[in-house]
Amino acid sequence: MKKSIELDWANLGFNYIKTDYRYISYWGKGEWDGGTLTEDNTVHISEGSTALHYGQTVFEGMKAYRAKDGSINLFRPEENAKRMQRSCRRLLMPVILTDVFVEAIKKVVKANEEYIPPYGTGGSLYIRPYMIGIGDNIGVKPAEGYLFSIFCMPVGAYFKEGLVPTNFLVSEYDRAAGNGTGAAKVGGNYGGSLLPGSLARERNFSDAIYLDPITHTKIEEVGAANFFGITKDNQFITPLSPSILPSITKYSLLYLAEKRLGLEAREEDVFVNQLDRFTEAGACGTAAVITPIGGIQYKDDFHTFYSETETGPIIKKLYNELTGIQYGDVIAPEGWIIKV
Ligand SMILES: *Cc1c(COP(=O)(O)O)cnc(C)c1O
Repeated sequence: MKKSIELDWANLGFNYIKTDYRYISYWGKGEWDGGTLTEDNTVHISEGSTALHYGQTVFEGMKAYRAKDGSINLFRPEENAKRMQRSCRRLLMPVILTDVFVEAIKKVVKANEEYIPPYGTGGSLYIRPYMIGIGDNIGVKPAEGYLFSIFCMPVGAYFKEGLVPTNFLVSEYDRAAGNGTGAAKVGGNYGGSLLPGSLARERNFSDAIYLDPITHTKIEEVGAANFFGITKDNQFITPLSPSILPSITKYSLLYLAEKRLGLEAREEDVFVNQLDRFTEAGACGTAAVITPIGGIQYKDDFHTFYSETETGPIIKKLYNELTGIQYGDVIAPEGWIIKV
């Protein structure tokens, strides 16, 4: 019999919660083993693991949603599979095939089904796939062994009081190098972001905004989320750069802005000294969903968009369209929702 979980669904944050099962698979001698579910939430690895010393580690982030009819939705999991493959290739790690990845995600979600927040609470099951280089190594070279795992936990609605804008601070630090690993979801990009993020929060901003590392004139990322803006003449604009992490939420919004809201939508340079072209701005990603940006502090200037306290009409529409699709209330574009 399945035990039923009683969590305080309304007050979930974004915190680690140990759920019952995680998927784990090992690579050795040139192939993956079959992969299994385990109840053990610890991993036992060699002190020489490349993940520990040289950052040979990649991850993904995605969610499962409980629909009104009780079924479980995954949002574009094949895109996460493909992005993880690109991240792995960048760090000379073996890849997980898309079908294997999606099946493993389904297994983990199914096994922890009682942890999925009920429909209507605004919560979801956050899913964290990751891969690390393991084994007895010391030289700077790719590992011969790898561990691939997927765990999950219930997380709350990002906005408990509804969509509330927050402010951000343009950092003097870079998050990625021009031709570095910015476009890959690799551990090394995030260690370096802890200090700028903390400096921004010390000054009461939600997070740091990063400019392009080559010219420091263009917006690239908002913390660990992508930036977008809505222009006065109804264009959806999001930065184009090889050092931005290609957000699946961002590409989904580009599509929805054009096909469902009738906006012109495209990627192009977003100069930090030309923010007055935007009437609304937001940050987007799996965790952030859409965070309306109230204002941006850049050096001595504070630029406000729609309002510091209210969300603009286009962002509201985009938010409703996106979350409606994820929870199954709005018809999804072909292939976007995969049932568990
Ligand atoms: C994961 C991530 C995002 C958001 O990507 P999604 O696929 O939308 O979740 C954006 N920026 C950075 C730096 C990230 O790590």
